[in-house]
Amino acid sequence: MSQRIPDRVDPWRLAEQGQALSGRMPLHALPRLAVLLQDAGHEVAYTVRFGRDWDRRSTVNLKVQARLVLECQRCLDNMTLEVDTETPMALVNGPLEAEQLPNELDPLMLAPEEYLDIAALIEDELLLAIPASPRHAHDDCAHPGELDSVKPADKQQDNPFAILATLKEG
Ligand SMILES: [Zn+2]
Repeated sequence: MSQRIPDRVDPWRLAEQGQALSGRMPLHALPRLAVLLQDAGHEVAYTVRFGRDWDRRSTVNLKVQARLVLECQRCLDNMTLEVDTETPMALVNGPLEAEQLPNELDPLMLAPEEYLDIAALIEDELLLAIPASPRHAHDDCAHPGELDSVKPADKQQDNPFAILATLKEG
C-alpha cells in the first residue's frame, strides 16, 4: 500500500486529479528534525491528500504520525512525544491569496510552476509539533520539583499559532 515517495511533486496537478500519497519515511532522512532527536531510528507515517474544495481551491491535507524521542529540558532524560496531526492547507500563489483563506485552511505558498517537496513539508509539520521546551509530564519526570514556567505541551499543541509565538519569543 505504501508507495515510494517522489522527491518533488506537482501539487496543482495532483489537486486537479484528487490524488493521495501515503507511506512511511525514516526520521533520519529529515536532517533539520534529526538533530533534535535522541533517537532518529523511528519512522513517520504520512498521508498527503490533494483535492479541490467547494470554492475551487486546490487543497492539501497533511496527516503525520510519529514518535519523537526528545531530551526532557527539566531532567535531561529521554522523553517520547507522540505526534498525530492533521493539517488542512490550500495552495496559494502569494500573500494576497493567503489572506483571503478561511481560518480553517493554512496557506501553502507556491508559484504556479513550482514543485512541492513532500519530505520538507512533513519535516516542517513535525518541527512545529515540538514544544519550545519539551518536558515529561509532571508524574513521569525524574526532577518534577521545578515549577513549570510554560504551559504543558499538550495544551500548546491544540493551537499551532501558540507554538509559533513561543518559538518567536525564544
Ligand atoms: Zn523529565
